[in-house]
Amino acid sequence: MEQYGQWMWKDGAWIEPTDANTSIMTHAIHYGSGFFEGIRAYHTEEGPAIFRLREHLERLVRSCAYYHVTLPYTVDELEQATMELIERNGFEACYIRPFVFLGTPWQALMPTAETKVHVAISCWPLGEYFNKTVGIRAKVASYRRVSSTMMPMQAKAASNYMNSQLLKGEALRDGFDEAIALDMNGNVSEASVANIFLVKGKTITTPSLDCSVLDGITRQTVMQLAREAGYEIVERHIGRDELYVADEIFLTGTAAEVTSVIEVDHISIGGGIQTVATEMLTRYREAVTGQLPEHRDWITFVKSAVKE
Ligand code: PMP
Repeated sequence: MEQYGQWMWKDGAWIEPTDANTSIMTHAIHYGSGFFEGIRAYHTEEGPAIFRLREHLERLVRSCAYYHVTLPYTVDELEQATMELIERNGFEACYIRPFVFLGTPWQALMPTAETKVHVAISCWPLGEYFNKTVGIRAKVASYRRVSSTMMPMQAKAASNYMNSQLLKGEALRDGFDEAIALDMNGNVSEASVANIFLVKGKTITTPSLDCSVLDGITRQTVMQLAREAGYEIVERHIGRDELYVADEIFLTGTAAEVTSVIEVDHISIGGGIQTVATEMLTRYREAVTGQLPEHRDWITFVKSAVKE
């Protein structure tokens, strides 16, 4: 448990990770009723800086709302708790995991008005999710991304990640680093926990949100940074064929940041060139560490969050 630091925040109290236990009868364990966020705090000269904390917490509130779950805390309270959590644990940089889940009591499938809505926030050190030096090799997965006609895919719900695990598991077993999922109609959707972008000349294309794509906060960030760098950004349906003839492909996500995909289904993408992905990663790193004055509002500094 040491990897999760000394402190966790659960239901308004500060506890040790070893005490963060729950009953086997927890609704979320039986039926998947969990909702979460993944956020990063970066090391800066002004102390740890949390990237787009408010946007992440607001997405958590929306994820719950799709399932008629109301959080018992405000975004302000969760923001304060997150800052204090990092300060208490003394991490310079870390991954942050706010998690909402339904507890007890319940009788059958449905939670009731009495079913407790738990909220916990943990954090832990997380390095590079992918090896970005060479870029990664991906395969188009045999399972499709769950469609929004079946479940709200804009909700970052725990249950969606069974689909992600199938996608990623297949890719890993087949010797690849990551999966690219198609949506129900056969258009490109996203990777297991990251959005996808294709580069062709000065145009950067990404699947529109109706392709079972999570509205990634890194996706939004990179689209804005790319526009500012003079690229044209297009959101549309992307056919599978387009993957293989892109100049470059890259993934975006809080964990993945900006990661270049150099090969899809054993076909080299643009000869492995990563020019645009590297440019975007550099800009992204500047943004997350507060080096872009015009985007300082994306950052929450942790310093002196703990009230005496
Ligand atoms: N798609 C999925 C399925 C994800 O889990 C994630 C990670 N949250 C993303 C895309 C990227 O989202 P973000 O940039 O907000 O981390």
